[in-house]
Amino acid sequence: MIEDKRLFTTEFAVIGSGLTGMAAAIFAINRGISTSLAGNTGAIAYTTGYLDLLGKADSNSPLSNDPWHALASLRSSQPRHPLSRVSDEEIRAGFDEFTAFIGSCGIKYGTPQERNVMALTPAGTSKPTFSVPATMQAGVEAFAAKSKCTIVDFKGLRGFSARQCVANLQKEWPLLKARRVTFPNMEHGEIYAEVMARALEVPANREALAEEIKKVAGDSEVIGMPAVLGMHKPDQVMADLARLIGVPIFEIPTMPPSVPGIRLREMFEQVFPEKGLTLVPQQKVTNVEFGRDGITLSLRDNFGPIDIVAKTVLLATGRFLSGGLQAHHDGITEPLLGLHVNQPENRDDWYSHNYLDKAGHSIHLSGIEVDDQFHPIDADGKVIDQRLFAAGVILAHQDWIRGRCGAGVALATAYRAVNEAHKLLKAA
Ligand SMILES: Cc1cc2nc3c(=O)[nH]c(=O)nc-3n(C[C@H](O)[C@H](O)[C@H](O)COP(=O)(O)OP(=O)(O)OC[C@H]3O[C@@H](n4cnc5c(N)ncnc54)[C@H](O)[C@@H]3O)c2cc1C
Repeated sequence: MIEDKRLFTTEFAVIGSGLTGMAAAIFAINRGISTSLAGNTGAIAYTTGYLDLLGKADSNSPLSNDPWHALASLRSSQPRHPLSRVSDEEIRAGFDEFTAFIGSCGIKYGTPQERNVMALTPAGTSKPTFSVPATMQAGVEAFAAKSKCTIVDFKGLRGFSARQCVANLQKEWPLLKARRVTFPNMEHGEIYAEVMARALEVPANREALAEEIKKVAGDSEVIGMPAVLGMHKPDQVMADLARLIGVPIFEIPTMPPSVPGIRLREMFEQVFPEKGLTLVPQQKVTNVEFGRDGITLSLRDNFGPIDIVAKTVLLATGRFLSGGLQAHHDGITEPLLGLHVNQPENRDDWYSHNYLDKAGHSIHLSGIEVDDQFHPIDADGKVIDQRLFAAGVILAHQDWIRGRCGAGVALATAYRAVNEAHKLLKAA
């Protein structure tokens, strides 16, 4: 059977639907650029929901509560780090534009300020981050004030333990206690954060849960719980549950897959088409052709083959987990375009012999090379195509896990790349 090929023509096409691709789409929409986005589920479903800018400038420095100071150090010690190539003004503007957009679409974040805040992790430790969802803000405040707090977990929910949180935090937070409750209508067997979040969109389930929590809350001033406060209207779910319990509540991220990441993905999938973006969700681009009149991306969905012809293209396909980079016996490749990948000379140098080496593992600095306009370049430093840009954690010279800078790299580089693409489109 011959299938009809669908053809979409846009000014800007984004390959990859992680945080970088989503942010790039927002920046492009805000600039009035006609945009398409194609990508399948990637690391966004695993993310905690915290937006980190930069937690430490290098492996020897301590975790910092001043990301701007850490950025200044980074620029002198690691000038090729993607964050070193973007100014403070652009980084602020990128974070503000991103958080304002998602806030206006129903998922509020704290406005990024001058300092990092200390936020709780799924393991019950704390880490510096730049902006947290509104549903996690009371946790940042309670941790800073060391308020009288109960952390609640749920019978049957794996990957989140209130007792573990308390065991890890008790020394610095003596007024913290752990309690376990049964989630309404999920009394038996294993239960899942995503299902609980959707259940809490129903008012009757919130009422039933509030009753369970009130039984164990004692005289707590604030209640923490795993991130399950609704999928589509988390701020409303939180406010209603807090009203029913009678004290402020907050979410703590769970182990992946995590509700805050799924919330973002589902919100983008709903909002982007409403804003006029051509979205091809859950599909991978399989081929890219550079023609004189445009760059053609080929992919297919359940209805058949699709071509997207775009004047400019952003590659935001992530690292190994998302398939943006691939590791082979003879080296690391970028599978879609065959771009040059900066990497250790030998496979033997990928990992340090010490698994917990403070300096990290060299493989995590691998990635594609770009110029200051975020055009991918080849091994000789030559731009591949002026219409092609790259952003996010596919870029070389950064170890976002160690630097606590996942969202920082995503938002800052997407912001710069979209502005560069915009300049090119205006000049054409
Ligand atoms: C467990 C975990 C926890 C995290 N916690 C935090 C945190 O606390 N704070 C923080 O700031 N960041 C965190 N992050 C990082 C953050 O979620 C993003 O991974 C990071 O910001 C990089 O985003 P990215 O869009 O560049 O890459 P990715 O998120 O990896 O996205 C790349 C996307 O490209 C798609 N793709 C790949 N190949 C193709 C193709 N050929 N065609 C179309 N699409 C393709 C993938 O499917 C994926 O959707 C966490 C990540 C993980 C995995």
